[in-house]
Amino acid sequence: MAEELLRMGIRVEHDIFTVRQAGREVAGIVGLEHQDQIRVATALSEIGRQMFALAGGAAVSFHADGPPPVLLIEVLATAQAQDGLAGALESVGRLVDLTFGDRDGAALVSLTRRLPLGSDALGPGWADGIRAQLGGLEPTSPYRELIVQNDHLLATLGEVQRQRDELLRLNAELEETNRGVMALYTQLSEELEETNRGVVALYAELDKRSAQLREANEAKSRFLANVSHELRAPVTAIIGLTRLLTDAESDPLTGGQGDQIDLIESSAADLLVLVNDLLDLAKAESGRLEPRWEEVRLDRLLGQLEATSQPLVTRPEVRLVVECGDDVPVVVTDGMLLTRVLRNLVTNALKFTEQGHVRVSCVWHAADATVELAVEDTGVGIGPAETERIFEEFYQVRGPRRTGGTGLGLPYARRVAEVLGGSLTVRSESGVGSTFTVVLPQVPPPDPGPPGGRVGHVLVVDDDPAFRAVVVGAVRDDAERVSQAANGRQALEMIADDRPDAIFLDLRMPELEGERVLATLAADEGLRTIPVVVVTGVPPDEGPEHAVAMVAKDRATPETLRAALRTAVGGDFP
Ligand code: ADP
Repeated sequence: MAEELLRMGIRVEHDIFTVRQAGREVAGIVGLEHQDQIRVATALSEIGRQMFALAGGAAVSFHADGPPPVLLIEVLATAQAQDGLAGALESVGRLVDLTFGDRDGAALVSLTRRLPLGSDALGPGWADGIRAQLGGLEPTSPYRELIVQNDHLLATLGEVQRQRDELLRLNAELEETNRGVMALYTQLSEELEETNRGVVALYAELDKRSAQLREANEAKSRFLANVSHELRAPVTAIIGLTRLLTDAESDPLTGGQGDQIDLIESSAADLLVLVNDLLDLAKAESGRLEPRWEEVRLDRLLGQLEATSQPLVTRPEVRLVVECGDDVPVVVTDGMLLTRVLRNLVTNALKFTEQGHVRVSCVWHAADATVELAVEDTGVGIGPAETERIFEEFYQVRGPRRTGGTGLGLPYARRVAEVLGGSLTVRSESGVGSTFTVVLPQVPPPDPGPPGGRVGHVLVVDDDPAFRAVVVGAVRDDAERVSQAANGRQALEMIADDRPDAIFLDLRMPELEGERVLATLAADEGLRTIPVVVVTGVPPDEGPEHAVAMVAKDRATPETLRAALRTAVGGDFP
């Protein structure tokens, strides 16, 4: 319920100042802050002025209302409502909330202002308290009100000035921050560029190193193959000659000579084993070992292995057991090579087992279509530090007992298992025993590399040097030569000079985009047939017409890139 706080009239012009003053004071007493007091006072004096001009006078009443607590000021014209009042007070509406109406035919303007008080402030004594304070109000004169108004104006100007200064300061601060951000951005870009350069250099270094390694390894294999070859002829000659000497038809030898000849023969035989092992290994490593794929029944293969290995069991305390699961299907592999691997493992197992058993088993894993062939023994075992080293050439575990051998058997066996598309691993515990496991696919994987050997000249086009390095690294082994272009324009120049056999092409590049390169190739009879692998960060809805294969950059791995190259040059693999 609205409580009236004060009522006054505007009858002469002078009263407008009094109303203005009252507005300000009431606003102050009910708790409005300084800026709001000026708003209310200014609005009220303007309403009063307009009412006086249009209707000749008005009654002004101040009320407290709520909840929520508000100050309500009503200005009621003393005469008939006049048109144009709302229009004349439009600017006042920006200072305070105004509503226009009429009461008994007279114009009524209501001004409301929300008070910064809680609803509990509206207790019964509230309005009385305000009224008591208002009772002490001294009426003002136009002159004094003008001075007050001036003071307010100056204060407002001061406030505006202060706000403008604040704005300038904020602007300067913002500019400063912007400069900071720009500097940071530049620094980050430079760092990124630096890092990129580093990565590219690293890739180049890696490329160089792996090329050197490959060369060194090839040289080693060549050396082994040549030396073994050269050695084999004289060693077989020595063996032949010793046999001749001990032949019954030959002249008889003295007892001592016979013994010496026997020693020569057995040494030569050892040497021949070493030379043959070296030759096998060199052949397996040089990639010249070509499996002859055939369908193999593993139960039969293991049966034969058992028959030929039983004579190697020389201790009565050791049993050789061979078992093969009933569900093992026919596999496609090279039976001869696989037998050599297994015989190698069985020979070792028997050599290093004094008692217990050597068990050969064969288990089918349907889930990944592989067979697991294990040779398990209860022999001396191998310490953890040496389980991988035994696959190194010539490595033999030092023991109390010389067991003979060359240290070439396991590296050879592992290499052959890999040539067959499988793997050879070992689990072992010193003093307990060892299990060597060959895992083979049921069907060997397709021959890696493009059909018909390598692709001639591959051109890699991408503006990102790091990504170019990735592609180059991935396809280098499949290509005779790889060249690079950093943008479409450069690519077209290089293609015109030296026609590549396949192209890796990035679509988004500065200086002529990949699509334009494709279009240019498609328009040229001689270039139209070059297979193109499109490599793109954002895959288009459908591949460009001329592209033979596509690789999304986020899925580019050496495998996907090589597979795409094979697809592009007409391989059978996806
Ligand atoms: P070699 O048998 O001719 O010495 P390998 O390459 O076949 O060469 O084996 C390398 C070494 O690995 C052996 O000298 C031996 O120390 C260790 N080794 C191989 N098989 C076994 C096994 N079943 N138990 C214990 N040690 C083994």
